[in-house]
Amino acid sequence: MQSLNKTTDSLLASAKQSLLYTANRPDVVMTRGEGMYLWDTEGKSYLDYIGGWAVTSLGHSPAVLQEALAYQSSQLVHASPGFFNRPMIEFADLLTEISGFDKVFFASSGAEANESAIKLARKHGSLHLNGAYEIITMTNSFHGRTLATMSATGKPAFEPLFEPKVPGFKHVPINDFDACFAAISDRTCAIMLELVQGEGGVHSVEAPYLQALRKACDVYNIMLIFDEVQTGLGRTGKLFAYEHYGVKPDVMTLAKGIGSGFPLSAMLTTEQYDLFEPGDQGGTYSAAPISMAAGHAVVSEILQQGLAENAAKQGALIQEKLTALSEDYAVSQIRGKGLLLAFDIPEGTAPVLAAECMKEGLLVNAPNARTIRLMPPLIVTAEEVEKMIQIMTGVLEACGLHNEAVYS
Ligand SMILES: *Cc1c(COP(=O)(O)O)cnc(C)c1O
Repeated sequence: MQSLNKTTDSLLASAKQSLLYTANRPDVVMTRGEGMYLWDTEGKSYLDYIGGWAVTSLGHSPAVLQEALAYQSSQLVHASPGFFNRPMIEFADLLTEISGFDKVFFASSGAEANESAIKLARKHGSLHLNGAYEIITMTNSFHGRTLATMSATGKPAFEPLFEPKVPGFKHVPINDFDACFAAISDRTCAIMLELVQGEGGVHSVEAPYLQALRKACDVYNIMLIFDEVQTGLGRTGKLFAYEHYGVKPDVMTLAKGIGSGFPLSAMLTTEQYDLFEPGDQGGTYSAAPISMAAGHAVVSEILQQGLAENAAKQGALIQEKLTALSEDYAVSQIRGKGLLLAFDIPEGTAPVLAAECMKEGLLVNAPNARTIRLMPPLIVTAEEVEKMIQIMTGVLEACGLHNEAVYS
């Protein structure tokens, strides 16, 4: 089945010729998506447990998104960032109502939402903390690929890149309150962290640690920022991951699942931190009608379909099935929340396992050489869990990753 005139081979040749080489991509060309599945130009289908990188919360090409885009594009695609528009106001109302925050700023990517949070923290520092500008972030974290968000990120591979980094970030390990406390000084304006480190391999913060961070922030008037770009909007089995902990931040960033594939992000904060003045932050595409209509449709559907609850339910089922698998295969450290899950296999085998799964029509992610991460659309059903486990079992068997391998 060929949906384009060019053959797959000539498409791949063109891709290698004309695209800047910024990612290692397999030799397939994706052409269509529907629900839990992607199809390539050869007509092969893939059960998608990467979910557009934790993005396609409603699955691929959901009807509500198609309808919202069709309707809004017939009315008004872009008004200019200098004007209010109707979808902008409606979506801001919806997001503030469901999130427990008072104010929102919209952008197009997770990195931009985090840049906004970094700027807001520095504004708070300059207005209320004698010019404090340092932000404490975590080792093994991921906050984006702009220069400031790369500097905030605690990923060893980023360290030597694009020097000099944006100054003013201190990295400390998660779940180590003493390390964080020791890093706080009169230069500190904020602490920023993910509640489940996604790109870092799915590691959750602990509740007492988070409560201690909240207290320290209150005592020192430091801003607490949760990067919920990956964990927000139902992914972890609650609408927002902070609900698992009963700890509310001062600023929360959202992206990925908020548009189910439409580029969109948000930074939410409270009345107290309504500190930007005109000119401090903005963007040509901030709160454009087309993206606001997309976000409104996607978030409404997540709420209406109870997809946070489904994420909790199917996530528990996946954990149960993986635990059963671990009796026969070298699967360990099953972890995560809702539909942001991971497990470990022997060091070095994860990229091979992910590639073999793909051959068998299953997409999974290997964030490092020993970890497999699962982040399917929130619409996943028990049948599709069963199918994933079936394919995974076959691949573990074919790769010879039996349980003895770990212990012998
Ligand atoms: C993906 C991600 C980002 C970056 O989002 P982009 O849309 O790629 O800019 C930031 N923080 C976290 C936690 C993420 O998972």
